[in-house]
Amino acid sequence: MLEDGYCRRFSYLRLSITDVCNFRCVYCLPDGYQCETDREFLTLKEIANTISAFAGLGTTKVRLTGGEPSLRRDLPDIIALAATTSGISQVAITTNGFKLPQLVDQWSAAGLTSLNVSIDSLDPRQFHAITGQDKLHTILDGVYKALGLGLKTKVNAVLLKPCGEGQLKNFLHWLKDTPVTLRLIELMQTGDNLSFFKLNHVSALPIKMQLLQQGWVQVLRDKTSGPAEEFSHPDYAGRIGLIMPYHSGFCDSCNRLRVSAVGKLHLCLFAEQGMDLRPVLSTGSIADIQQHLIGLMPQKKISHQLESGLTGATQHFSMLGG
Ligand code: SAM
Ligand code: SF4
Repeated sequence: MLEDGYCRRFSYLRLSITDVCNFRCVYCLPDGYQCETDREFLTLKEIANTISAFAGLGTTKVRLTGGEPSLRRDLPDIIALAATTSGISQVAITTNGFKLPQLVDQWSAAGLTSLNVSIDSLDPRQFHAITGQDKLHTILDGVYKALGLGLKTKVNAVLLKPCGEGQLKNFLHWLKDTPVTLRLIELMQTGDNLSFFKLNHVSALPIKMQLLQQGWVQVLRDKTSGPAEEFSHPDYAGRIGLIMPYHSGFCDSCNRLRVSAVGKLHLCLFAEQGMDLRPVLSTGSIADIQQHLIGLMPQKKISHQLESGLTGATQHFSMLGG
């Protein structure tokens, strides 16, 4: 099992398969995707080696992310190879959802078990203003299709100050009858978004208080389930999860490691650098890759230092998948 110097065990791999994206989310790629340098994304073979090596060291869940993972044409093959790797029981994806209505049945047939779809607002105009794309209705159609296929579905929404009360009110109304988990994510600072962050960051703590006052109950989660706090309510089909990285203790339950689309291991979303796995990935020896991974684990720090404004190598989340 992969374990760091603080006795945290890592059973969850977030694997970025591209850094390209077709959206322009104001907090991530406000000027759209820019191809800064020549690079080659991990091949299917390298992805297979990565997942096998992690699986052999106790990883049970793989999340495919990006950039926008659905922009890779071989996504169904990647899902299938993750799903058929011995030891992997959950294959998830995080997507902006623009291809969901067309492709979600293929992904499901390939072995996808769950998905997170990013929807920052249920107001079509606000959604357009945040993402640069007028696609809210297409994406919602995709969410209903995913639910119809029996896929466990979460909706990621970044909390933004100007969206205020309206954002939560609309979501609460929707959750009455929609059996998804809404993940409200505090905006995080990255290398590129400092001025946006300063203007738009809001804490999720007042929302937690409001939910508790309105009869939502915190769900007891396993110690290994990661840092989200989750809430349920008997009158609602959906649940709410809060991601509060600026609150103390957030990193105590860290259970995940990240590999970028160019094969760098990031021990934290805000690590100072990624460690290049490609030289060992190309040897094809799973044992060599595993030895290498084990050797890197002591370098994982006890927590990020976001509260001091240290964002490490992460210029924007499209680089690494969030
Ligand atoms: N393109 C896909 C999507 O948007 O779902 C996958 C990659 S995206 C980087 C993963 C998640 O990170 C999305 O839910 C997005 O809203 C979130 N995200 C991006 N930048 C963020 C930031 N600065 N703070 C908090 N969440 C962020
Ligand atoms: Fe693209 Fe996702 Fe970033 Fe939005 S959050 S720009 S969809 S990578």
